[in-house]
Amino acid sequence: MTHDWREAAFETRAIHAGQDPDPVTGAVITPIYQTSTYVQEAVGVHKGYEYSRTDNPTRTALHEAMAALEGGAWALAYASGLAATQNLTYLLSPGDHVLLSDDAYGGTYRLIAKVTSRYGVDFSLVDMSDLDAVRGAIRPETRLVWVETPTNPYLKIVDIRAVADLLTDHPARLVVDNTFASSYLQQPLALGADLVLHSTTKYLGGHSDVVGGIVVGNEPEVLETLRFHQNAAGAVPGPFDCWLTLRGIKTLAVRMERHSANARTVAEFLREHDAVGRVFYPGLPGHPGHEIAKRQMRDFSGMVSFTVRGGYEAAMAVAGSTKVFQLAESLGGVESLIEHPGQMTHASVAGTGAEVEDSLVRLSVGIEHESDLMADLRQALEAVVPAGVA
Ligand SMILES: *Cc1c(COP(=O)(O)O)cnc(C)c1O
Repeated sequence: MTHDWREAAFETRAIHAGQDPDPVTGAVITPIYQTSTYVQEAVGVHKGYEYSRTDNPTRTALHEAMAALEGGAWALAYASGLAATQNLTYLLSPGDHVLLSDDAYGGTYRLIAKVTSRYGVDFSLVDMSDLDAVRGAIRPETRLVWVETPTNPYLKIVDIRAVADLLTDHPARLVVDNTFASSYLQQPLALGADLVLHSTTKYLGGHSDVVGGIVVGNEPEVLETLRFHQNAAGAVPGPFDCWLTLRGIKTLAVRMERHSANARTVAEFLREHDAVGRVFYPGLPGHPGHEIAKRQMRDFSGMVSFTVRGGYEAAMAVAGSTKVFQLAESLGGVESLIEHPGQMTHASVAGTGAEVEDSLVRLSVGIEHESDLMADLRQALEAVVPAGVA
């Protein structure tokens, strides 16, 4: 890097860090280095790149950009968020214990419970917003504590600094899955986390056109272990995927501001609607995590969940009758999405005790104009419960 972009504000880092003009051509945008291998001047004499499973210049740019955005010493990019999660499990050995939040992303739970546990690693679940419960659940052999905040789909808030403080004299590392907040709204390393993980598929990519993951941290020996295992096991992102993610993060700040503003408007509208039961949005003053969210987040992001008064059928009808909000899993793109967690994103947790209410609907509020979003939700809710009938 020719310039220390770490001195610059977030918005400036997002556009410039790791993304100096191309030294060969002057191209303003980092090229897609669509190559698997690199010519060597002599055996073992090269420019730092030998083979693209190990390293690729477009991926290096993404690493530098993401390290700068999360305030970490290094970042590592992966083929998906779950590839990033799996790579972190290589920090564990048989006999170790993982403490996982009881409403962790379903894929994270599935990986730890069904895959990692087969290799002699124990795990348990705890409500991470209950600090006494967390204190009681930490074991001498705990090596990873896995926090997600806000959570999915109830948007619970976990106090990152408070959990980090519980681990001060304990060898366990605190991992924060920062996917729902994004690097712009929440900076877990500054709050005491050891590692930050994202599914870059969501807000960082931001356009629903790429699947990816990233881990950011500070400890050099952790980077060495993760790089060794990533190179040994192979779940790397392709150069075009890295390039799409880099393009996405350039506009992260402005997108997150609009996502948050639209979500707040939508949450306030839903709260007043007769057809709606409870609204889950950390930006509402009545939300139990509102004060913590205000402290540790810059804004409250774009995810809103709510229950529909008519129960399961009404929730299914609402999810099926919006036009601007498209019926789909995933989140964090510029377009608004709606889904029924019980039947869609959370169908796989049936029977685990982590089931969600069947009257629940989840929104990923996009960056369309708020008037179109409100009109769309109004017509969908009125179709199931005529206005004025509670
Ligand atoms: C989507 C998601 C993941 C998994 O990421 P993939 O890119 O789908 O593998 C992990 N955590 C959270 C919070 C997610 O939303």
